[in-house]
Amino acid sequence: MGARQRADERREVTMEATVRELSAASPAAIRNTEPATGKPLPAVAAVGPGEVRLVVERVRKAQAKWAALGFAERRRRLSAFKNLVLDRSQELAAVISRETGKPPFEGLLHDIAPLVNLTAFYARGAKRALRDRRVPIRMFPHKRSYLRYEPRGVIGIISAWNFPFSVPMGEVVTALAAGNGAVVKPSEFTPLSALEGKKLLDEAGIDPELVAVLPGFGPTGAALIDAGVDMMVFVGSLATGRKVAASCGERLIPCVLELGGKDPAIVLQDANLEAAARSVVFGAFANSGQVCASVERVYVDRAVAEPFTLRVVELTKKLRQGGGGEVDVGAMTTPAQLETVRRHVDQALAAGAKALTGAEVRPGPGRFYAPTVLTGVSHEMAVIREETFGPVLPIIPFDDEEEAIKLANDSDYGLSAYVFSKSTRHAEQVANRLAAGTVIVNDVLYTHGVPELPWGGVKCSGVGRTHGEEALREMCWVRHVNVERFSLPKPWLFPYREAVLRRLEKLLRTVMRLFN
Ligand code: NAD
Repeated sequence: MGARQRADERREVTMEATVRELSAASPAAIRNTEPATGKPLPAVAAVGPGEVRLVVERVRKAQAKWAALGFAERRRRLSAFKNLVLDRSQELAAVISRETGKPPFEGLLHDIAPLVNLTAFYARGAKRALRDRRVPIRMFPHKRSYLRYEPRGVIGIISAWNFPFSVPMGEVVTALAAGNGAVVKPSEFTPLSALEGKKLLDEAGIDPELVAVLPGFGPTGAALIDAGVDMMVFVGSLATGRKVAASCGERLIPCVLELGGKDPAIVLQDANLEAAARSVVFGAFANSGQVCASVERVYVDRAVAEPFTLRVVELTKKLRQGGGGEVDVGAMTTPAQLETVRRHVDQALAAGAKALTGAEVRPGPGRFYAPTVLTGVSHEMAVIREETFGPVLPIIPFDDEEEAIKLANDSDYGLSAYVFSKSTRHAEQVANRLAAGTVIVNDVLYTHGVPELPWGGVKCSGVGRTHGEEALREMCWVRHVNVERFSLPKPWLFPYREAVLRRLEKLLRTVMRLFN
């Protein structure tokens, strides 16, 4: 065993020991049950709020060494991590499925595949995305400026439970590719997937001190923001996002907020109805509707509303729901989310909506809500105004396109939106009038899994972007360097003189005419 390997192992023991000791010192343990079966999941010791600062300090020390490694070595280690994730994909999918209640198919396709793709993209692309950028200066051609992207230091990441592997690990990989360290506070409902990810990072030869995963509850997340991190990435609800933004404002650290959605789909009269129905059913019920970008409202042209709705209901009734194995729709991950879904549907039905299928909690032991299609809903109902985050699809006919666009935009949220039409030109005209971070024509959901494409919302759906080259730059601070290549007179320096001012004024007019 070489000296370096021994040193690496010592570090591993140290960080693991730290988190273990901190967890042991904390009185709380995380105890969840499998959403699909009701069986207990392994208890996970929680790290308390008082312990977070120490962890951030340790990560900061490791970060300096990681940044000094350079792009090529970082790429090698991130690629090793990616390969390990691929090698262990079956086991990982099983863990993800067990703690979320989603089918293993979704664990593989929605959590593991996007993370692997993202890791490959950033491992390879970070060097190019973060190279120095020249900024031409029109007014002073004898000077040159460039931007240099420096890692911020330690990135704090707080995540939700619906993509417990791809989301926190995706943010970790982005942070590492840009030369940062990371401290993750995963959702208290799904700590196991992130802990599996951490094991693989260690195994890939990434300094165990560089990334910490701190299982814990809300107060531990709040403490992370206050523990000396240089930037926060928060993925979760609007209510918590507001608190996170306020704390980051207090500390004057940047934050990216990926919050909720109430995403509309508009089905135009000339849409391919079969393709639109299949997409919308997938968009509403994949992950049991627990996707920030789930289709939560469908506006369909009245001329085609009947055949479209019939087909949606037919497809919905064919969905197989249950735990494990060959099922299409899994369980509701948390008891609170099941309650929200039940409340939204019950209120809608009480106010005159009609359920064409579903609208019931399926008998236990797991937490299942039957895929539900609603008609007769109004825009005042909670099922239209609030994020449902469950398998519920309200369908609303419209009489003209203007009305559809107005209704689609009538929301506090603006994460994604979808338009269906055989004419892409027509669809794009509608798409360009929708207030959403992403608008997809003739498809749903999938762009979150494509690392090249920026992800994020407008309005109450969030601030900033993850994914794409922009996210890497966001995780850096920018140094602007300005160099004088040769010297010219600087008549604007002291002392000020009237005659010089007149000459400069004339020069300004001439130059500005050239810039027209
Ligand atoms: P949540 O806001 O309840 O919790 C998110 C995380 O915040 C958890 O880790 C939680 O422990 C932590 N937390 C709680 N209180 C905190 C506090 N005061 N300070 C700091 N951290 C705190 O959200 P959730 O129920 O876990 O997730 C569901 C939400 O996440 C939905 O609204 C969904 O749309 C959203 N989401 C958004 C995206 C996106 O990309 N826009 C992706 C996934 C999920």
